[in-house]
Amino acid sequence: MSTAPKVIWSHCNDCGRETKHDVVHKAERRRSYDDDQYSVDVGSTWKVIQCRGCEEVSLQRVDWCSEDDPHDMPNPATYFPPRVSRRKPAWIDRFEVPSEYVEILDEVYAALHADSRRLAMMGARALIDAVIRRSVGEQDNFAKGLNELGSKDLISDRDREIIAAAIDAGHASAHRGHKPSSDDVNVVIDIVERMIHAEILAEQAQALKKSTPPRKPRVAKKKS
Ligand SMILES: [Zn+2]
Repeated sequence: MSTAPKVIWSHCNDCGRETKHDVVHKAERRRSYDDDQYSVDVGSTWKVIQCRGCEEVSLQRVDWCSEDDPHDMPNPATYFPPRVSRRKPAWIDRFEVPSEYVEILDEVYAALHADSRRLAMMGARALIDAVIRRSVGEQDNFAKGLNELGSKDLISDRDREIIAAAIDAGHASAHRGHKPSSDDVNVVIDIVERMIHAEILAEQAQALKKSTPPRKPRVAKKKS
């Protein structure tokens, strides 16, 4: 009989926190490597786990090696789909957000959960690039792009200041090995989400304008 626990604590993407999960199925893969003197076993343990709260199902994999020191921390688990702790804003499902944004956002959230802060910051910077390109077209540099966004009322002067700082942080992550704090990354992602939201709302407003029948102009009666 296996003594492996049937219930484990794990982060649930849907619940947005650690919850109890049932281990619905478990599978092992094991390989042995032998030479004349030594034999080393390596393997992976796969678990299909299901959240007891929302019933979301995910796959957990832990790799092991017979040479691992049992006193060390166990190897970190990898998950499919990747775990994310930051929730996607509700408006993303409500509006038709371009897949270019959604895909990069998903990767940024996963990088943030894995504590890959540099990758998350680079992803946020790529999103700002995409917003500039889609909203005001290809620009020679960021400063010009931000000016254009400002002239279209997609960002305020204050936003521009924060975004400029964010871009610098993204640049520092990409080129100077700067490791931002998770607070820094979260602030930048807040701004990026707001920029995307502003762009979507501007499109919605245009669509609404087009579909609303115009008021009939009042004809002033002429005195006869
Ligand atoms: Zn759940």
